[in-house]
Amino acid sequence: MTIPPLSTIGIIGGGQLGRMLAVAAAQLGYNCHIYAPDERCPAADVAVAWTRAAYDDIEALRRFAGEVDIITYEFENIPFEPVAALTPLKPVAPTPEALRIAQDRAFEKSFVDRLGARTAPWAAVDSLEDLEQALARIGAPAILKTRRDGYDGKGQTRIFDAGVARDAWAAINGRPAILEGFVHFEHEFSIIVARSADGNTVSWDPPENIHRDGILDTSTVPAHASILEQVEEARALALRVAGELNYVGVLTFEFFAGDDGPVFNEMAPRVHNSGHWTIEGAVTSQFENHIRAICGLPLGSTALVAPRVEMRNLIGEQANDWAAILSDPAAHLHLYGKRVPRPGRKMGHVTRVG
Ligand code: AMP
Repeated sequence: MTIPPLSTIGIIGGGQLGRMLAVAAAQLGYNCHIYAPDERCPAADVAVAWTRAAYDDIEALRRFAGEVDIITYEFENIPFEPVAALTPLKPVAPTPEALRIAQDRAFEKSFVDRLGARTAPWAAVDSLEDLEQALARIGAPAILKTRRDGYDGKGQTRIFDAGVARDAWAAINGRPAILEGFVHFEHEFSIIVARSADGNTVSWDPPENIHRDGILDTSTVPAHASILEQVEEARALALRVAGELNYVGVLTFEFFAGDDGPVFNEMAPRVHNSGHWTIEGAVTSQFENHIRAICGLPLGSTALVAPRVEMRNLIGEQANDWAAILSDPAAHLHLYGKRVPRPGRKMGHVTRVG
């Protein structure tokens, strides 16, 4: 099925990922209609229409479905059932099943384990007793992560000593969680793949990702040599997962590279911050290939356009440096139109090519 240019793409979620998807869609001649509950949203600023309603407002979602030709999403914490309920009305890509799995760390880990991923030892934790038992098996150091709604290091706490299980359980407010053994990795990287409905796949060079305070700071290609040695196995897993889900669109996987690697960390059923460099650094960006995939157009080349590309996030007040950043002629500045530069908030990014 082809959704031709001039059609309207509905995007659930209104953040910067939706904004960059809408810009890529506009370039190909599509209109975008954003669905998001926020008072202001970066994606709606560049779209032709915006439905402002709650993610579980099924009536509003149905009306939205009636006004678009295809539905996609840019945020994985939207409730699964209301999105799945739209599938009889309009094509929804990627499959909501990917959303259901990726938004729960226990479902996600079980799913990739079944497909042969290397994962850190882990256990589902629903009570303090579960946590104590899991710590006895996995040992410290370990990380306790809420099963749902965690991002940018939120909803997780490190446990350095099994004696402090009670404090850790309180730190995540006793929410359903998983305990994960600590991975002694050397580098972090991601694999970003795009898959079309006819099963064609492409993937970009893997960026090496450096986090600061739990938030992505930089993504650089080419990645460190020790990452490149682990890419083949990581990419094979990514393609197995995409095929198993009959996935259509862009799908991202984060890995740890090291002696035990590549160790799967998590996946996101969407375009990803570690792929922003592809806008200027690759022949076809992750955003454009997502639009091409869901609309049934041929996928574009993911080849690099320069020997080296670096993307740096602008967090909070860092975005105020836009004038200094632009004084570097090699810098491509992206600002997301967010008014309030709260600490830890992703306000924009800058990519340097070459
Ligand atoms: P996550 O939200 O799961 O991506 O975790 C955020 C960051 O915490 C990761 O990018 C890693 O830097 C670190 N981290 C997460 N899980 C582990 C682990 N099992 N071992 C060591 N570091 C981890």
